Amino acid sequence: MIRVGIGYDSHRFVPGRALVLGGITIPHSHGLAGHSDADAVAHALTDAILGAAAAGNIGRLFPDTDPRWKNADSMELLRSAHELVRARGLGLQQADLTIIAEQPKLDPHLGAMAAALAGRLGVTAAEVSVKAKTNEGMGFVGRGEGVVVIAVATLEAR
Ligand code: MG
Repeated sequence: MIRVGIGYDSHRFVPGRALVLGGITIPHSHGLAGHSDADAVAHALTDAILGAAAAGNIGRLFPDTDPRWKNADSMELLRSAHELVRARGLGLQQADLTIIAEQPKLDPHLGAMAAALAGRLGVTAAEVSVKAKTNEGMGFVGRGEGVVVIAVATLEAR
C-alpha cells in the first residue's frame, strides 16, 4: 500500500530576514515573510506528508495565530508532522520537490537541502529529491516577488 500526497507553498520576499529553504540558510539580499522561519520547502513537504496520510495540513497543526510557532524552526514542524503520521502506522518512502524562484541561484544548495530534509525524516538523501527552476520571468515569481514550492511525498505502511 502506497499513499501519495501533494504540498504547495508560497512566501513573499522581504528585506531584513534570512532566506531559509530546506533547513539551509542561503546568502541573499532578501528572506521570506512568515510567522515561522518561512521555510517554504519544509512547509510544502510537511503538507505533502500530511496530505498522504489525510491528516490535515500545516496550518491546522501549527496555526500562525499561535505564539508558540512564532519564528518556529520549520524543519522541526516537518519532523513533528512526520511523527504524527508515524503514529498512524505510516512512514515517508520518498519525496520529490520543485522550488520555483528567479533569484538566488539555488542549484549549489540543493544537495544540502536534500540531506537536511532526509536527516529530519529518518530516510537517506537518495530518497529526497530537491530541484529548482525559474519561472522564465513570468508572473509574481518571475518578478522576483516570492518563491513557490511544490512537493510530492509517498508514504508506506511501517
Ligand atoms: Mg508556508
